[in-house]
Amino acid sequence: AKRTGTGSIVWYDSVMDGTRLQRLALERDLVEAVEAETFELVYQPQARLSDGTWTGAEALLRWHHPERGFVSPAEFIPVAEEMGVIHELGAWVLRTACRDAQAWPASAKVAVNVSPIQLVAGDLVAAVRAALEGSGLDPRRLELEITESAFVGEDKRLAGTFSELLAMGVTFALDDFGTGYSSLGYLHRFPISKIKIDRSFVADLPGSRPSEAVLRSVVALADGLGLRVIAEGVETLAQAEWLRDMGCEEVQGYLYSRPLDRLRAVQTLSAGSFD
Ligand code: C2E
Ligand code: CA
Ligand code: CA
Ligand code: CA
Repeated sequence: AKRTGTGSIVWYDSVMDGTRLQRLALERDLVEAVEAETFELVYQPQARLSDGTWTGAEALLRWHHPERGFVSPAEFIPVAEEMGVIHELGAWVLRTACRDAQAWPASAKVAVNVSPIQLVAGDLVAAVRAALEGSGLDPRRLELEITESAFVGEDKRLAGTFSELLAMGVTFALDDFGTGYSSLGYLHRFPISKIKIDRSFVADLPGSRPSEAVLRSVVALADGLGLRVIAEGVETLAQAEWLRDMGCEEVQGYLYSRPLDRLRAVQTLSAGSFD
């Protein structure tokens, strides 16, 4: 038996391999980190291609684990979702991002990633309301990034959640567009105002016919539905030029800025535009 940090006892034997032990340790540390709030948010600016002005920034979670060092959100978010701590963690992200964005220029939006679990199983409306009230942030400056998987098994409750958030003034962006689920019906059934093209398509630019075709049709689709479109993961000038020629309005990626800590985000966004 092994005593864990939270005081519970975990029994294991030879059938339990290293991976499973690692996973248990990660779960325990994650619960402790949520309680102690030892996470950090960094912000990656988003820009308008036509004139280079910053339109806002996406909040991205960082966890500096005491022993393991940096742990990627791609690794711990799924664990937090499975364990249910995503609700507390997500509420912390919303509070912190709204508070930090208050120091930005009034035209800058903050985009916050929301897990489908938060959307369908928790009280996202209450968490958003608390974050907005606690910070005083104009709700129109908060954009929630959701993925297509949130619409799998859609129900009345989901529609209710959307309309309550929409009534507050919050907006929605569809993240990782093109990677999921192929039905596009939800694009007009739900109040989405922006499509975020997944970076896997951008990474292939220019020169990959399939990715170019996907990007071209997403831009046309967004145009037809009156939605804004942003490309993520833009790393090269050639990618940016291709996207601009295609009519993509907004961009985010290492070419413009890496994710920045809170203070550097204020400085960068206050400068108004890149270069
Ligand atoms: P995402 O929402 O698709 O976020 C974009 C990811 O691409 C981020 O990784 C960002 O650092 C990275 N990125 C930005 N520009 C570039 C670029 O030019 N090239 C490349 N190769 N990558 C770029 P990160 O920060 O590691 O986040 C990974 C994922 O973790 C996010 O993907 C999102 O799904 C999730 N995540 C992060 N923060 C949160 C959060 O607060 N809540 C939830 N639920 N999920 C989060
Ligand atoms: Ca995102
Ligand atoms: Ca994304
Ligand atoms: Ca992604």
